Amino acid sequence: MDGCIFCKIASGELPAAKVYEDERVLAFEDLNPQMPVHTLVIPKKHYSTIADGIPDDEMGHLFNTAVRVAEAKGLVGPGFRLTVNTGADAQQTVHHIHVHVCGGAPMNSGSPKQSAPQ
Ligand code: AMP
Ligand code: ZN
Repeated sequence: MDGCIFCKIASGELPAAKVYEDERVLAFEDLNPQMPVHTLVIPKKHYSTIADGIPDDEMGHLFNTAVRVAEAKGLVGPGFRLTVNTGADAQQTVHHIHVHVCGGAPMNSGSPKQSAPQ
């Protein structure tokens, strides 16, 4: 989608620190990490929000990829959080679905933005 920064990252037009990529999804490091591990996983196809009717197989692949990223980062034992901020009240700032994979330290309750290590 024109003007979407995550579409530009998915197409290679904008740089990112890529962690994993296949034909449907891309995982890359968050530019402004809120936790020791803070990676984003996006579908390459543009959907503004998780409520936009993403097909079951794409949803499954997106979240399985997020879990594999957590595994690769060593987060399965200590624990991790997957977050999808959706809409204004959730403070979604980039309107292209992205799953935050966060961990590496104990968290407060709430969203990743409120979950800096104690
Ligand atoms: P959200 O508030 O859920 O929409 O989260 C958007 C996330 O995207 C924030 O954590 C930003 O730090 C991150 N972000 C924005 N632009 C970039 C970028 N160019 N590369 C990597 N992460 C980004
Ligand atoms: Zn997009």
